[in-house]
Amino acid sequence: MQFINVVWLKRDLRLTDHAPLYSAIEEGSPVLLLYLYEPMLLNDPHYDERHWRFVWQSLEDIDRQLRKFNTQVLVLNSSAINAFSTLMTQFTIKHVYSHQEIGLKNTFERDKSISALLKEKDIKWFEFQTGAVKRGLKNRKNWDRDWQDFMRKPVLTPNLEQANWCTLPIESEKKWDIPYTWQTKARGIQTGGSELAWRTLEDFFDQRAFAYARSISKPEASRSACSRLSPYLAWGNISIREIYQAALKHWKTPGLRRNLIAFISRLHWHCHFIQKFESECAMEHRPVNIAYLDYPYEKQSHSIHFVKAWQQGNTGIVLVDACMRALIQTGYLNFRMRAMLVSFLTHHLNVDWREGIAHLARLFLDFEPGIHYPQFQMQAGVTGSNTIRIYNPVKQAQEHDPEGVFIYKWLPELRTIPVPLLFEPHTLTTMEAMMYNIAPDSIYLNPIIDLESAAAIARERLWSYRKRLDVKKEAARILSMHVKER
Ligand SMILES: Cc1cc2nc3c(=O)[nH]c(=O)nc-3n(C[C@H](O)[C@H](O)[C@H](O)COP(=O)(O)OP(=O)(O)OC[C@H]3O[C@@H](n4cnc5c(N)ncnc54)[C@H](O)[C@@H]3O)c2cc1C
Repeated sequence: MQFINVVWLKRDLRLTDHAPLYSAIEEGSPVLLLYLYEPMLLNDPHYDERHWRFVWQSLEDIDRQLRKFNTQVLVLNSSAINAFSTLMTQFTIKHVYSHQEIGLKNTFERDKSISALLKEKDIKWFEFQTGAVKRGLKNRKNWDRDWQDFMRKPVLTPNLEQANWCTLPIESEKKWDIPYTWQTKARGIQTGGSELAWRTLEDFFDQRAFAYARSISKPEASRSACSRLSPYLAWGNISIREIYQAALKHWKTPGLRRNLIAFISRLHWHCHFIQKFESECAMEHRPVNIAYLDYPYEKQSHSIHFVKAWQQGNTGIVLVDACMRALIQTGYLNFRMRAMLVSFLTHHLNVDWREGIAHLARLFLDFEPGIHYPQFQMQAGVTGSNTIRIYNPVKQAQEHDPEGVFIYKWLPELRTIPVPLLFEPHTLTTMEAMMYNIAPDSIYLNPIIDLESAAAIARERLWSYRKRLDVKKEAARILSMHVKER
């Protein structure tokens, strides 16, 4: 049987700055690139067809680059354990190479069983650090300095010409029957692949970044002025180091400096949040501040209709609904609007954060467990260590969408209402509602809650809970583990 090295692609779907592929090629044995569509993840509530389509587009992009080497990625629809067991019947696997996956508990458990299987067969598995995130870290000593060092190191680009590519097993030459809906582009949703990641990056630095800092909070302008690199980073079409180094090349461009400072600080946050999740992954199932386990949320039986209205963008609060509908259609929202959706769910509606987290994960094309969980909990106010923010959706709309461009786009049924009335249609008189052609039973005349009183109750509930001794004790522990350098 042929000796091979397997490079197991996960959320690192690229051929550049790729330490596992680099090392596998250097080792010299024939290289097999493997990607697994695992039923466990296909059925996981955090994922949606939009993610798998993006992955498929990314794999197609890799295959296009590999065509001249007469090889392609072996794509299987299989559990990892079955895939590796089958490969072992067709090849003698010398080594397995991959990046460490900072993922959900199910992928961590899967990795443990693969590790056991490979150990049993005496196959060495080389796992490489993902970005600047360190496995098993218990405090942040020197973390910032190490982040800088990592970002400044030369990228590790594999020499594809030099690679000894493996001949794929005959029966896999015809790829698994990929669902048709993954093979067609989705209108309004970003398309996957390294080529597009690089085009997005270049276009950002050449044109869009000049408006970055001033547009970052605006729901409409941010869609073009922010980098839009998040799905490419989440699925690994480009590495964070490649982006960082590209940003530095533009450091002296007149008019960019302030924007680049803001942008680079976010690249730092990217790893900072993933590191939090890596260091305390139990937050997938419980609040990072364990004292919030008893937080007095609405009972699930009461909150069910609130959750449904929020999920469908049908709460009667215009900016909340516009954001949710934009997200459903496009897979993207800027940071502030994501934070506002969580704040509305968990503060105004007093719904347990666990009832909303998978819904947003499914909708965010850039779903990254290590950012999503800590950010969601932070906005839900269950860390005890961050400033509590209750976003007022009316004020947010007035400040960041003053002409109503974003709201009109996503709630066309309100196009007849002029600003500033648009922001609070429930204040329209019966005559005005008739004049603007708004049906008397419209949710926008009778929103699911009264914003002001719900916010006042939430404020009292959040601040009084925060004074608890157990909350403070946990907050101190969180700060010393995840934030303070020692
Ligand atoms: C509740 C909630 C959930 C979120 N879930 C995710 C998620 O699953 N995946 C994800 O990539 N981002 C998530 N974010 C962070 C942020 O909203 C997105 O990274 C950003 O909006 C992506 O757009 P961009 O690429 O144009 O960002 P840019 O502003 O251009 O930033 C560049 C990159 O920096 C990183 N970044 C930017 N803002 C943040 C931030 N606040 N925290 C951590 N990293 C950041 C991202 O990788 C981003 O691509 C979440 C934020 C909130 C409030």
